[in-house]
Parts: sequence; C-alpha cells; structure tokens
Amino acid sequence: ARAQAMEVTGRPDVTYADIGGLDEQILEVREAVEEPLLNPEQFDSVGIEPPAGVLLHGPPGTGKTMLAKAVANETDATFIKMAGSELVQKFIGEGSRLVRDLFQLASEREPAVIFIDEIDAIASKRTDSKTSGDAEVQRTMMQLLSEMDGFDERGEIRIIAATNRFDMLDRAILRPGRFDRLIEVPEPAHEGRRRILEIHAEGMDVDDVDFDALAERTEGLSGADLASLVTEAGMFAIRDDRTTVTMRDFEDARAKITDEDDSPGTPVA
Ligand code: ATP
Repeated sequence: ARAQAMEVTGRPDVTYADIGGLDEQILEVREAVEEPLLNPEQFDSVGIEPPAGVLLHGPPGTGKTMLAKAVANETDATFIKMAGSELVQKFIGEGSRLVRDLFQLASEREPAVIFIDEIDAIASKRTDSKTSGDAEVQRTMMQLLSEMDGFDERGEIRIIAATNRFDMLDRAILRPGRFDRLIEVPEPAHEGRRRILEIHAEGMDVDDVDFDALAERTEGLSGADLASLVTEAGMFAIRDDRTTVTMRDFEDARAKITDEDDSPGTPVA
C-alpha cells in the first residue's frame, strides 16, 4: 500500500518560472521552506525556529502543488506526496501507519519535501470521534501531529500541506509547532492570468495572439482552467491542420472552457 499511497519524485521538474501570478506566494514559500533547508544556520544565529509546517490554502487548480514541487526542485529535494482523501477513503485502517511510513521514507531520502494534499480530509472540524470511521481519521491526524512534534525544524525535512477548504479545518493543526505558516493561494487576477496563458503557450507557434485581451475575458478561471484553454486552442489548430495557433483558436477555446454558448436546455442552477 505504501507504494500506491505515495507519489515520490527524486527531484520534480517544476520550477518557479513555470508558475504564473504568484510572485508573493513564491517569496513566502522560499522563506518558509527553502531557507531553513539551505541556510539553517541563519535561524540559529537569529535565535528563532523556522516554521514547522506550511499550509497553502485556496481554490482548486491555482498552483499549490506546483509551488510545493518547485521548492523541492530548487532545493534538490525528494518530493513525497500523499493525499489526505486517499488516506481515509482508499487505505482505510492504514492511515496512521502510512503517515509513519511517510516520515520514515522522508528521513531515508533527505533532503525531502513532504506534501500532504487535501489535509482537510484528515483534519476537518466536523470529525466526530464517536463514530468509528472518524476515530480512525483522528488517529491518522494524531499520528501526523506526533511525527511533526518529533522532528527538528532545522532538519532536512520540510512539510507542506494544502487545502481548498480552509474554513473546514480543525484549528488545532494551525497551532505553533504545527502548520504555523499560512500562505493563501488565490484565484489568478488579470496579470496572473496573462502570465499563466503565456507560460503554457511558450512552446507554441502563435500568430497574433493577444494574451492581455484573453486575460481580460477569462475572469474566474483558475490556473488549471487556463492550462486547458491553451491545450484546447492547440486542438482547434490541429483540427484545422495548422501548426500555428491563432487568436481565433484561443477565442474558440475560451468559449468552450467558459461554456459561453450554453445550449438551451442546460439546467440553470
Ligand atoms: P488542487 O487544489 O486541485 O490540488 P492545486 O492548487 O494544487 O490544485 P496544481 O495542481 O498546482 O493546483 O495545478 C494544476 C495544473 O494547473 C498545473 O499542473 C498547471 O498546469 C496549471 N496551473 C495551476 N496554477 C498555475 C499557475 N499559477 N501557473 C501556471 N500553471 C498553473
């Protein structure tokens, strides 16, 4: 189960340059995760502890996983990912053992960045210890907290968690010594959307594509949506037997992604 539950990458190939519109968040992540790994003595000489864990929170598809991978890339660290939802849905009864394995593996592969996606699945406010399923979820969470208590903040293992449901989180995990550094990763604004489109279209042969105008008309789309938009634009070019991608292709892709031409009969929420 251990091999299935964790995604391990020697050194991810995502870099900060691949991330659009999150300059502030990149700085914060570098400070909280990268500095303690690369310059632990800095913290010693100032006499403070680095953050124990970092929590990235924000809507789906905004680049949280990319941020975690980019830090691992920059620090030449092993990236070990585990999804909170899998721990409670797929590996029922094995949660706390898997958490133990996770830290064990990280210590064997130092330096390492542990990324726990969907942490809300194991640390939700609504968890009620009276039902047995929830007791198991709580045990998993307790194991995580005890592993975090047991390691040295200045060591070679850093922990990043992510959630799309910050409001649902059990506040106990945000206490000092736990996930004590919060970084909000918002939906991209205009400038961010333009950068994300440009980044994803970098390898494309584009003809007269106005990324600024596209950014203007894609409010509400996430980074993941914008990545699909670029792919769709490429698909339109392929369908037309072209290798150059035009503004028209991007416009068509935008209409498709944003569901602009809702056909009649589409249920209205
Ligand atoms: P989730 O909460 O659903 O796990 P996430 O916030 O972790 O999402 P990512 O997995 O980092 O999102 O992003 C998914 C994909 O969307 C990325 O692989 C990338 O192609 C694209 N993407 C998202 N955000 C950005 C961004 N800021 N810059 C460039 N690409 C982005």
